[in-house]
Amino acid sequence: MGAVVIVSGLPGVGKTTVVDKAIEMLRGEGFRVGIVNYGTVMLETAKQLGWVEHRDEMRKLKVSQQLDLQKEAAKKISELSREYDILLVDTHLFISTPRGKWPGLSVNNLDYLSIAQIIVVEASPDEILKRRMSDKSRYRDIADVESLRDDIVYNRMLAASLSVQTSCPVAYIQNREGRADEAARDLYSILARLVRDFEHT
Ligand code: ATP
Ligand code: AMP
Ligand code: MG
Repeated sequence: MGAVVIVSGLPGVGKTTVVDKAIEMLRGEGFRVGIVNYGTVMLETAKQLGWVEHRDEMRKLKVSQQLDLQKEAAKKISELSREYDILLVDTHLFISTPRGKWPGLSVNNLDYLSIAQIIVVEASPDEILKRRMSDKSRYRDIADVESLRDDIVYNRMLAASLSVQTSCPVAYIQNREGRADEAARDLYSILARLVRDFEHT
């Protein structure tokens, strides 16, 4: 199993944008680095089962259905990780379901993933709100600034919990407005350090 890097952050913070930019830099250096979006892997199964038509419907499914999709996706991601030195997994530490905040990584799927690093991408509540509202490619939940502030804190708590469970460091990356390239460079330098750690062992 290759090392899994969890890239997390609130919906609309810019994870996919930043990860896509960072991967180009890493591949340019000859690392065997893969990238996978956890939700996309879940979506393939969910569509085959006729449960949803698009990705933003999955968090509204019954939690029991989401647990099944989540576990199946972890097995597939585990298989995929064998093909790489490092696999970046673009995902969420919690999902806002109709029953409340539900963990993206827990006893349901953690055993399948050999996590080496946790990344949390952050931006201010105002920036996140603006990005959600301007992104017409998705059906995003539009929250208010106060609840986003709470979500940022909750996300940090889950990152700390995951760090303890996996013995992995958590790195925070600021994705400032109009400066996704800078965030990608920050992500790149953490991943380059991770690769150097592997060379040491
Ligand atoms: P989700 O978890 O829902 O998949 P995400 O964290 O992957 O969301 P993106 O889809 O990458 O978020 O970005 C959300 C929107 O914000 C997109 O329209 C993207 O172009 C924009 N965006 C990302 N980073 C920045 C930035 N630094 N400045 C301005 N806009 C940005
Ligand atoms: P994303 O494109 O990253 O927003 O992912 C789309 C959807 O996939 C999310 O809204 C969730 O419903 C689901 N998803 C992503 N990662 C996870 C995860 N680790 N556990 C459960 N559901 C997830
Ligand atoms: Mg995304």
